[in-house]
Amino acid sequence: MGLELVTIACLQDNYAYLIHDAATGEGALIDAPEAAPILAALAARGWRLQQILVTHHHSDHIGGVAEIVAATGARVLGAAADRHRLPPLDRAVVEGDTVAVGGELGHVLHVPGHTMGHIAFHFPASGLAFTADSLMAGGCGRLFEGSPQVMWASLQKLAALPGETLVCSGHEYTMSNLRFAATIEPDNPALQARIARVGAARARGEATVPSLLSEEMATNPFLRARLPAVKAAIGMAGQADDLVFAEIRERKNRF
Ligand code: ZN
Ligand code: FE
Repeated sequence: MGLELVTIACLQDNYAYLIHDAATGEGALIDAPEAAPILAALAARGWRLQQILVTHHHSDHIGGVAEIVAATGARVLGAAADRHRLPPLDRAVVEGDTVAVGGELGHVLHVPGHTMGHIAFHFPASGLAFTADSLMAGGCGRLFEGSPQVMWASLQKLAALPGETLVCSGHEYTMSNLRFAATIEPDNPALQARIARVGAARARGEATVPSLLSEEMATNPFLRARLPAVKAAIGMAGQADDLVFAEIRERKNRF
């Protein structure tokens, strides 16, 4: 039956996610921007929290960890490489490690670029990928620490997951990401359809995450840098994928 998923809006435009295994009553939180809405979401469902899985060290992803640990006793798991700049970790992980939530196993993926220690969590049985500020809905995170080559390799790792995977990313940036995407591929019909859908969802005050990986493959310019049509559209026909990605990222920085 898979893990239940709850998307929680936090701060200005952040998202945290709760996953819950109904059979065992075990739950995990992915990222903790702030405590109050997360503790409220747990209380509303009568759920207990065993683990907090942290994607990266930025304060808008860890600011609520201490308060949530104090309230729930949850164990904190994060990247070994970022131990020195994360809240105290009960478990430090690297790529290939697994995280059990009830009866399900999540896999740790190292996805550097936004930060060098950024990790993602993939739960294949439930088809969930928690990508935070690596792959985002319609976009990708800014390259604060990694080179374009590093981020491109991370995105390829995520692009290899099954198309029906739900991409659970860290921010409500989708509309501005898609507006930028339309400057790269103005004639992409899947992109135009997504812009209409996302606009309607935002008008209703709804979150635009999670998103389907297959839809990201069809509309997210940062995943599409390898396509000849995209290369040609920005005047880089025949150039290497990572260089095309770098140019698209540079244009987004100026957008
Ligand atoms: Zn971040
Ligand atoms: Fe963030």
